[in-house]
Amino acid sequence: MHDAPWPSLTRNFAYDLASGALPCGKAHTGVTMSECPFCLTRAANPPRDTVQHIVCDCPYLEPLRLLLTRLWSCLYPDTRTPPLLSLFLAYGHVGSTHDHAVATAIRGALLAATRWARISITSEAGAVNPEALTNAALSNLRTHIHLDWRATTPAVRALLAARPSQTQRAIRPNTQRAFVLRWSRVATYRTDRVEFIGPLALRRAGRSGRGNRRHSTASPT
Ligand SMILES: [Zn+2]
Repeated sequence: MHDAPWPSLTRNFAYDLASGALPCGKAHTGVTMSECPFCLTRAANPPRDTVQHIVCDCPYLEPLRLLLTRLWSCLYPDTRTPPLLSLFLAYGHVGSTHDHAVATAIRGALLAATRWARISITSEAGAVNPEALTNAALSNLRTHIHLDWRATTPAVRALLAARPSQTQRAIRPNTQRAFVLRWSRVATYRTDRVEFIGPLALRRAGRSGRGNRRHSTASPT
């Protein structure tokens, strides 16, 4: 994850998740119970709040599991098996046949949304609704794709070329053709904005104004 173009807060969250250092239960500031704060009001015997429960089992992150599946079926229609959300978030595990830059972009978008959801439910804000959580992840991904597009413009290409880190340069497409090859199955660039297409476009068309506001405040970066 050293070459991932993620905001520092997302990167720190990723390290905490992968190393098992993410505060859970009573270890989280201001939380007085050990049980999962989401499942507590929905199950007779709520599970303990652990990293494993959060990323493997908790219904709170189900919208992100569904979104990962949807993205994978759009990007890789011939290999429909999506990665497990748990292994993908914590370790970036996708198998060897997929595009590293694409996986890094999606992983960053989902990590930032997970971080926002986690902060919300362990604070007075409470649980994030499923639609807002999906829209937050898509908003993060759209920002990444927009920056990918900008990386193909001459001015930004010149800036990237001057960077000392080769891995930083390699993570962004360097031509419009490379951009289209990378993202044409899920998004397109029209005028001055990125628009999702196919099933992802339908998903966004149904969002409510309220959900829109919440996800715009999410930009968990
Ligand atoms: Zn739970």
